[in-house]
Amino acid sequence: MSHQAFSPEKQDFGRDPVDVRDTDHYQKEYVHRFVDKWDELIDWDARYRSEGDFFVQLLKERGAKRVLDVAAGTGFHSVRLIEEGFEVCSVDGSAEMLAKAFENGRRRGHILRTIQADWRWLNRDVHATYDAVICLGNSFTHLHTEHDRRKTLAEFYATLKHDGCLILDQRNYDAILDHGASSSHKYYYCGRQVSAEPEYVDEGLARFRYSFPDDSVFHLNMFPLRRDYTRSLMKEVGFQDVTTYADFEEDSGTDGEEPDFFIHVAEKR
Ligand code: SAM
Repeated sequence: MSHQAFSPEKQDFGRDPVDVRDTDHYQKEYVHRFVDKWDELIDWDARYRSEGDFFVQLLKERGAKRVLDVAAGTGFHSVRLIEEGFEVCSVDGSAEMLAKAFENGRRRGHILRTIQADWRWLNRDVHATYDAVICLGNSFTHLHTEHDRRKTLAEFYATLKHDGCLILDQRNYDAILDHGASSSHKYYYCGRQVSAEPEYVDEGLARFRYSFPDDSVFHLNMFPLRRDYTRSLMKEVGFQDVTTYADFEEDSGTDGEEPDFFIHVAEKR
């Protein structure tokens, strides 16, 4: 796959948007306007507050120093971890995203180390090894085939040191699949400025609609990962232990209020 810089202004899902179930399509979903608008509205300070030091603690408990942020996006976690003293390398398959991450880093006084790479061929472009790989912000869901998911996890595994760990989060798709897209509540980011809601769902696709205050609308087509399916894939590629947290708490798996998202911590050792 060549490294390309797609910068179209409009998303294009073709004539039948729910038919778009292609891993490569993420490049065309993160168009310039969407990335810019998102970053302008999502308040990094609020995000800092809502996450607290959850990821920082997980990494520190494991003695991690070198972190590979494989879904850098606009750079939120890379910057956060650099400011906590970690040595971070920021990876993303989208040039649009990495450019924005670099710009955001500079504005905060950091020069991000960036590598444009698709996860499926990560080790072609990333040659060092890391104490931790983080794949956050519901990113793994962009992979539409099981082959791509296995290949990606194997590439993450290979870039970790012998006792390294992978931290990967995902939306709670079990709730959306089991109760239907329409029953799932809207998520509002940044007050009521941005809303995200599943518009269509089946076992192979969750199509989300993002609405902005100026009435502009964008979509992302994602694969609805069931919690236990993600865990089993991680174990099958070689991770020895997988601990899953629900909304930043250890997940007991018992019934109760449905969590919004899960965080898996997979240990290589
Ligand atoms: N982690 C960031 C955050 O939380 O704000 C960004 C999350 S965004 C939902 C998902 C990111 O994953 C995008 O920046 C996208 O370009 C990247 N991505 C999706 N599929 C990818 C792939 N196959 N290889 C590399 N990056 C990919």
